[in-house]
Order: sequence, then C-alpha cells, then structure tokens
Amino acid sequence: MESTHYEPRPGNGRAHVHRPAKGNGKKNLVVCPYCRETDQVIPILYGYPTHTQFLKADRGEVYLGGCEITPYSHYCKRDDREF
Ligand SMILES: [Zn+2]
Repeated sequence: MESTHYEPRPGNGRAHVHRPAKGNGKKNLVVCPYCRETDQVIPILYGYPTHTQFLKADRGEVYLGGCEITPYSHYCKRDDREF
C-alpha cells in the first residue's frame, strides 16, 4: 500500500506581530518653547528636595527650583531656561 503523501498543514501559520506602541513609558511631552524639543526638558521641583529628588537633580532629571516659587514648571537644559 502506497502511503498517501500527506502534507501536514503548517499550524496557525499566521504570524502575530505584536508591536507595542512606541514610547509607551512615561515620557516627558512638554515641549520647550525655545528649541521646540522635548528631550532636554525636565520638571522643576520647588521646595527642599528629598534625597531621591536630589539624586535625580544630580543626574539632570529634574531641576531644583529651590524655595523661591516662580510661575515656571519646566526647565530646558539645552537653552538653560525655565518656562
Ligand atoms: Zn529648549
């Protein structure tokens, strides 16, 4: 008896490509009004910084505004300006 050539079907050959949306994490979306970029913009923290905040400021992740509160909430490292 000749065996019928039986081709197994490739099971669920559909390729699932799950592409997570780009920039899913917390991203700073505040645009600098001077250079129109977001990558150098960091939030300004007012008041006395906590240890964590101080470390962040050291890494350039936040800008310490100190106790003097200004109407600005963000700082651009590229332009060295608050806005
Ligand atoms: Zn800027």
